[in-house]
Amino acid sequence: MKVLKFGGTSVGSIENIKRVREIITDGDKKIVVLSAMSGTTNALVEISDFIKNNNSNQALVSIDNLYHKYTIVLDDLIEVSELKQEVGNYIDKVFDFLKACSSEKHSEFLYNKIVAQGELLSTFIFTKYLNQEGVNARLLPALDFMRIDKLHEPDDFYIKQNLQRIINDALPADIYITQGFICLDAYGNVANLQRGGSDYTATIIGAVVEADEVQIWTDIDGMHNNDPRFVENTHAISNLSFDEAAELAYFGAKILHPQTVMPAREANIPVRLKNTMDPESYGTLISQETKGDGIKAIAAKDNITAIKIKSARMLLAHGFLKKVFEIFEKYETSIDMITTSEIAVSLTIDDDSNLSSIVEELEKFSTVEVDNQQTIICLVGHSIVKHHETHKLFKVLQDISVRMISYGGSNNNISLLVNTNDKITALKRLNKYVFDLVIS
Ligand code: ASP
Repeated sequence: MKVLKFGGTSVGSIENIKRVREIITDGDKKIVVLSAMSGTTNALVEISDFIKNNNSNQALVSIDNLYHKYTIVLDDLIEVSELKQEVGNYIDKVFDFLKACSSEKHSEFLYNKIVAQGELLSTFIFTKYLNQEGVNARLLPALDFMRIDKLHEPDDFYIKQNLQRIINDALPADIYITQGFICLDAYGNVANLQRGGSDYTATIIGAVVEADEVQIWTDIDGMHNNDPRFVENTHAISNLSFDEAAELAYFGAKILHPQTVMPAREANIPVRLKNTMDPESYGTLISQETKGDGIKAIAAKDNITAIKIKSARMLLAHGFLKKVFEIFEKYETSIDMITTSEIAVSLTIDDDSNLSSIVEELEKFSTVEVDNQQTIICLVGHSIVKHHETHKLFKVLQDISVRMISYGGSNNNISLLVNTNDKITALKRLNKYVFDLVIS
């Protein structure tokens, strides 16, 4: 059995929905995980923001605009009158629910219920469309089996038991459709796996059903060796190891949700990244195998805050870092990069929601400098730290002021911290120096 996940763009238009049908109807039994249609989750977040700001009128306007989009989808996709009635009723029910939410008081629970509607809509509409086309497809509601525990980790035991029970109880089908992203929390409330979390849903399901392969279908032909939005002449990387892909996903490669690789690596299930717009292209295969050496890819992660903590007391003292780390631990803020000297330590965080409290506590025993608008540029490949060509990347120091370098933390990753204004130049220069390409 394979698990195939299709992202928002893949189900974002009638034309693409038809492509997805062609891709999945190859005769093999499979589980298909869907995102919300592109733009829907953003619209739902906006609606929730209006509610949060007590602007229920504006929330209702946005709900109406979104409803209008779905009536067009219904008209263009569903032709059989019985099904049209059924799908129309479902869409109305969802939008009645949203309208009722518009006058409620904001809470995280309400937000979670609102943003869940996108995947509920896309999967219902798509399943009925497949049925209309004569495909034996069935909907498996994610909220009946997908659950996270108190630490927000997937509750594998619960998921496995319930998914198996639901599949056994359901009438046999060739294709099972389910929602990505949404789940229950440990207390049974509607929750989610964070923005972009449908990829993660796919590998969690892949691991529990012991799938032969998990495929993540998007609108790009695999993971690229540099960011195609900023650099010309990038190309898809054919093979990546789980470790390499995990580093790239965490440090900015937008194509994959950062946690996606974990369940697949643990269960040793290959993950293939494919392009819905070009199904024949090879894409990227992520597996246990490591192929090729040297730097394979460069990714960038924005919105990084750098914190320099300086203290004369650090000199020859032990326990200083422990003290620093305990503060970050207290505020549940994870640290990405770290470099130290004898009297100072610099580190980076990507979540600055508790920054002022953290700084206040650090200032009790050190001088603190904070730099916002930083970008981590991450270079990934097999054993790059030892590779004889890796030195080429340091030519970038001629052109860009690099705030921090993390080298040797893992053999597969070297990270540079630069000012976000220098990001595009750094990516272009690195492309030239590392991959020997002509820069424009
Ligand atoms: N629909 C959700 C989002 O836009 C989850 C996903 O697409 O993976 O973040």
